[in-house]
Amino acid sequence: MTEEERFWSKVEKTETCWIWKGNTSSKDPKRAYGSFHSNGISRRAHRVAWEFSNKKPFPEGMDACHHCDNPRCVNPDHIFPGTAADNARDAIKKDATGINHPKQNVAMVIHFRETSLHQAYRAKTMQAMQEGLGRKE
Ligand SMILES: [Zn+2]
Repeated sequence: MTEEERFWSKVEKTETCWIWKGNTSSKDPKRAYGSFHSNGISRRAHRVAWEFSNKKPFPEGMDACHHCDNPRCVNPDHIFPGTAADNARDAIKKDATGINHPKQNVAMVIHFRETSLHQAYRAKTMQAMQEGLGRKE
């Protein structure tokens, strides 16, 4: 089995998110990123997933952000290299379109209920951004 095969064997794919079933970095679900142990080092599973799919190393100095805000998700389509500022902008865009509240994905809804702290933080970030952008409308 190659490392790549071993990696994907730990993933449960749903129609939306691909959930990492291996070890996670934290017992706290808000910060429970998947971790993949390979060649004596432990790496964030969603970064590794992005690298396997894009066949190149993750861009240096960039954060692996989730479009879906699901730390255990390793669906490469849901992961993008971004900075903290990109992440905040992405959060605003998603709230406008409602992508963050998919009715069909129960796991994700539960995840969001568990992450009220995260949401509170995001609401604060969004408020700050909106104030920074001014109110032209
Ligand atoms: Zn996802």
